[in-house]
Amino acid sequence: MSRIVYVNGSYVPEEEAKISVFDRGFLFADGVYEVTSVLEGKLIDFPGHLARLRRSLAELALPSPATDAEIEAMHRELMARNGLTEGMIYMQVSRGAAERDFAYPDEPVPSLVAFTQAKAIAGSPAARTGIKVVTVPDIRWARRDIKTVQLLAPSMCKMMAKEAGADDAWMVEDGFVTEGTSNNAHIVRRDGTIVTRDLSHAILHGITRAAVLAFAREAQMRVEERPFTVEEARDAAEAFVTSASSFVTPVVAIDGQPVGDGRPGPVAARLREIYVAESLRRAS
Ligand code: PMP
Repeated sequence: MSRIVYVNGSYVPEEEAKISVFDRGFLFADGVYEVTSVLEGKLIDFPGHLARLRRSLAELALPSPATDAEIEAMHRELMARNGLTEGMIYMQVSRGAAERDFAYPDEPVPSLVAFTQAKAIAGSPAARTGIKVVTVPDIRWARRDIKTVQLLAPSMCKMMAKEAGADDAWMVEDGFVTEGTSNNAHIVRRDGTIVTRDLSHAILHGITRAAVLAFAREAQMRVEERPFTVEEARDAAEAFVTSASSFVTPVVAIDGQPVGDGRPGPVAARLREIYVAESLRRAS
C-alpha cells in the first residue's frame, strides 16, 4: 500500500514524491535528519528530537525550513493520513538544490521531507531475545554529534556485522567503544553500575540515551559516563543499546562471546519497562 509522504509543504503518494538531482542532500550528504518513534499514536520524546534537529542545523549553518510547531503539525498529519499508531517518522532537512559547488550556496532553499514507517517496536522480538554484536573499527568522520545523512560508514559496519552472522556492530576507536551503528552502547558492570560513553563529538547524543539515563538515576541506579573498552564490555554482567526505534535492547554476545550468562539481563529489561511507561506518560 502506498504511503502519503511529506515533501516541501505537500502531502503526496510516495510514487509522486520527488527531490531534485541537484539537491545537496543527494550530492554532498548535506543534510540532517531525525527519527521519532510512535507508540499508541503518540510521538515519543518529540521535544528532544526537535531540540537535536535545531542543534544539527545550527552546527551546519543550515537554515530551518519550518518552525517547531509546523514540524510537529506535519508529524501529526502524516500519522493521521497513514493511520500510523506504532512505528517511526523519519524527517530530513537538506540544504536543497543548487549548482554543484563545495561551498554552500549564498541563499539556500532547504528541503524538508518526511515519511512514516510502520513497525512493531513495543513487542519487538529483539527485546526478548537480545542481539549479537561484533566489534569493528569506527571509520566515521569526526563530528558524529551532528546527525547528518552521511550514513555509508555505519551502513558498511552493519554489513560487516551481518556477514559475521551478528545483528549489529559496536564501533571501536583507540580501544574504546564509541557506539552501535545506529544506537548508543551501554554496559552493566557486575556491581550493577551502568557505564556508557560520555557525550562529545565522538558519538551521537542519543535522545533515548538521555531519557534512559535520567530514569536510571531516578531509580537510584549508579551511572558512569565514560569510555569503556571492548574487554570491559566482554566482562560485563549485561550490555544493551538504546535508540528511538529500538528503545532499550539487550546485547547478549560480543564477538561471539556471551555477555554475562548469554541471556537478556534484568537491568536492561527494567530500563526498557520504565522507558516505555514513562515516555508514553509524557508523550502526546
Ligand atoms: N547513535 C547513532 C550513531 C545513531 O544513528 C542513533 C540513532 N539514530 C543513536 C545513537 C540513538 O539516538 P536516538 O536515541 O536519538 O535515536
